[in-house]
Amino acid sequence: MLKIIVGIKWVPDTADVKFDPVKGTIIREGVESIINPPDLNAIELALALKEKYGGEVYVISMSPPSAIKGLKMAVAMGVDKAFLVSDRKFAAADTLATSYTLSCAIKKIGSYDLVIFGEETIDSATGHIGPEVGEMLGIPHLSYVTEVQEVDLQQRTIKMVREVEDGVEFFQANLPVVISVGVGINTPRYPIPLRRLLTELETNKYIETWALNDIGADPEKVGFKGSPTRVVKVIAAPMPARRLEIREASGETVKLFIKRLKEAEII
Ligand SMILES: Cc1cc2nc3c(=O)[nH]c(=O)nc-3n(C[C@H](O)[C@H](O)[C@H](O)COP(=O)(O)OP(=O)(O)OC[C@H]3O[C@@H](n4cnc5c(N)ncnc54)[C@H](O)[C@@H]3O)c2cc1C
Repeated sequence: MLKIIVGIKWVPDTADVKFDPVKGTIIREGVESIINPPDLNAIELALALKEKYGGEVYVISMSPPSAIKGLKMAVAMGVDKAFLVSDRKFAAADTLATSYTLSCAIKKIGSYDLVIFGEETIDSATGHIGPEVGEMLGIPHLSYVTEVQEVDLQQRTIKMVREVEDGVEFFQANLPVVISVGVGINTPRYPIPLRRLLTELETNKYIETWALNDIGADPEKVGFKGSPTRVVKVIAAPMPARRLEIREASGETVKLFIKRLKEAEII
């Protein structure tokens, strides 16, 4: 039996992301949010491992209360229980404070074999959280995992593959371990309509909310206070200006031009 914890982040849909240039933060008000797409791969892996080896899958998210919608979706996908780690004191956390808060919540859950994170988020994309949480829990961690080959429940080991630029790497680690999974490791399943209904009817059975005091976190190490990073300035990347140029050319020249574009895989 495996006890698996998956970290998911509730992120603004990137198509809508806007920055507050003065505060240096993302404007979240009035913006649709979604589960960070790579975290759906992490949930899928956890559910597939549960189906193979038995056990339980828990999801945690340090998010504002609106993330409950995402946690319900995770439960509807088949997750056994979800924890919303939410407190005003967690606001303006950088990755260090976020990882500290998540590691306190994981310790509160207690025993676990595997903690799975997505590769990175679509709104901040540091890829810090997995390795930082691993360090804070004092257990091994491996990023960019593209396959879990085998879990040996007797020996308490896990075999994994990681794709790198010029090949693949094979790892074996002792459980418990923290991993972050590469995008494309699997195809996330759709939520099951019956579980969606059950989650709506019995939300409290499936979703628990924890504040600062519930997870025994040090108030000095969370949120803005616990964040050594300061965003000095945020600027939107300028889009390159497009220039339209009209030239006359014979049919043969046009054909050659199209051929060259295809060769260069531009079209
Ligand atoms: C100075 C500063 C101020 C900031 N202020 C705010 C703010 O006010 N509000 C705000 O929301 N963000 C804020 N951020 C962003 C915040 O630091 C990141 O959202 C957070 O630390 C996660 O980092 P990331 O998105 O790069 O995650 P990554 O490291 O790219 O994420 C990897 C994986 O970790 C997991 N993960 C990431 N975040 C969470 C989470 N919260 N809960 C569970 N799992 C998670 C997911 O599985 C994800 O795929 C601020 C950042 C800085 C530097």
